Amino acid sequence: MKISAVISTYNRRDSLAQCLSTLSDQDLPPHEYEAVVVVDRSNDGTVEMLRGLRTSHELVVVVLEENRGLAAARNAGASRANGEILLFLDDDLSCDRHLLSAHLAAHEGGVAEKLIMGPILPASDRPLRFASEEKDTELRKYFESLSGAAKPQWPDHACVGANCSMRRSTFSKCDGYDEVRFARHMEDVDLGVRLWKRGVKFRFEPRATTTHRWCQSKVQDWKYVEAKGATTVRLCQKHPELRSRFGFADVVSAPAWTRGAAGVLASAPAYSVILLLRTLATLSERMPHRSGVRRVGFRIYCLCRSVAILAGARREAGSWRALLKFFGPRLPVLLYHDIGLATPLTENPNLTIHPIVFERHVRCLRRLGYTSISASQWLDWLENGTPIPDKPILLTFDDGFANLAEHALPILVRYGFSATIFVITGRSSWVGRPLMTMDQIKHWFSGGFEIGGHSQTHPRLTALGASALHDQVSGCRKDLDEAGVRPVSFAYPKGLYDKEVRSAADSNFRIAFTTDEGLNDLQTDLLLMRRTSVLPGDTLLDILLRARFGYSAVYKVRTRLRLRSRIRDLVRRFYGNPNVAADPSV
Ligand SMILES: [Zn+2]
Repeated sequence: MKISAVISTYNRRDSLAQCLSTLSDQDLPPHEYEAVVVVDRSNDGTVEMLRGLRTSHELVVVVLEENRGLAAARNAGASRANGEILLFLDDDLSCDRHLLSAHLAAHEGGVAEKLIMGPILPASDRPLRFASEEKDTELRKYFESLSGAAKPQWPDHACVGANCSMRRSTFSKCDGYDEVRFARHMEDVDLGVRLWKRGVKFRFEPRATTTHRWCQSKVQDWKYVEAKGATTVRLCQKHPELRSRFGFADVVSAPAWTRGAAGVLASAPAYSVILLLRTLATLSERMPHRSGVRRVGFRIYCLCRSVAILAGARREAGSWRALLKFFGPRLPVLLYHDIGLATPLTENPNLTIHPIVFERHVRCLRRLGYTSISASQWLDWLENGTPIPDKPILLTFDDGFANLAEHALPILVRYGFSATIFVITGRSSWVGRPLMTMDQIKHWFSGGFEIGGHSQTHPRLTALGASALHDQVSGCRKDLDEAGVRPVSFAYPKGLYDKEVRSAADSNFRIAFTTDEGLNDLQTDLLLMRRTSVLPGDTLLDILLRARFGYSAVYKVRTRLRLRSRIRDLVRRFYGNPNVAADPSV
């Protein structure tokens, strides 16, 4: 037996009969394939229909005593299958005549451990309901992204649902679907993630086509999405690296008022509002297709759907606050350079902050309840879900000036803060100031401070050719490796980066920092982390704003005013007439 089509079914007798009739009409000899139907405790005559069915191919019927969900049904079917290849199908799919042979052909040659994914196209004769329109859009987007990519992409395509096939041995090696945690939802993503992590190669086979016929009722749809929201939280608890893949991450990074509105709608007291919106959506569904009212109704339907997902997720997380916390604190990253005593002769005095002022900043941050984390801790939280403090902040120092060892780091130690220091590895001084020696760097690394790269000699990386760029970035990484400071992070010198520079950082470090302002969250590109520069003229209000929003609006206003006064001075000097200068249109 070459291939087994495993179909689980629950109270969809007619739909299953249609699926099986398309499966009987395959271009494969009947003795080379079988259908394994798992009846997940149906009471609509499905078992009787199956008993009376005569097929040219082998038909195995497994009847479960109680309704156990899709994951358990598929596992039960796989355990009774005899084929070398397992193909999972749903009872609402119609199979193309070449479906099984296309799957079989895709498994030939190349690596043994493969997962073949075939497209699921929407049926043209489905009733025009919002639920089916939404499902069709979702399926179309998914399969367009699959066919548009050279190969399936992590993590978006790590999913083993209907119309996916693999060797039976691959399925049993990973213990099949997780029927305890993902009995009815997200079992496909969970298995996909586990297979991907095992190194199974995912392939898309556009010729292995099926057509999707089923359309859920609205009651089924609301229940389905609420349960899906809850299971998504469970899935992300098991695989924290998936958190950015789901819409919750959008909610977390949305403006405060959007987050607040979403929280209110997803809470129980707003249920009557949602019921009203659902009723409006249902009424508009009956309006003529393409009419304006129906289009508005569809938007209301999509809004209700998102709220239902959030409500399910909120219930699973325990509270709205817990859900927001799970999907992400927003991380401010402050950028300092030199902490020391600047004199009128100091080159670039804007880089230097007085130690007393710096101590005030640190004291202020501690009073505001911030706890410092390192770049590695942020990575750990993203990838493994390792908890981080409620109000995290990342302090960074660029260039690695020797003054840090004398002034900044002892202050940080005193207040229980740590920091990440980005060092220049191929120079002993920069902008007229001595840099930390390798011994000092090693000393502070062993004291709990994280060391990152900042190139070898601090050139404009964007102006370099490929070979010089490689020397600067990977040479810096090599210097730090030799010093034994285990670098994971990089800061672009002068904050400048382009595609090539980003790619060089990607090859040598796991996380890289720009000087683009803003907060960081789940969806921030790890190679384009945002930072806000702390300047000598900053007040404590500036520090508070930088920590809260990732930039200081007050500083921006101040700078603009200063710029205006400078222009005014220039115009005044040029014309010698203060009245002319007072007119901004000049
Ligand atoms: Zn620098």
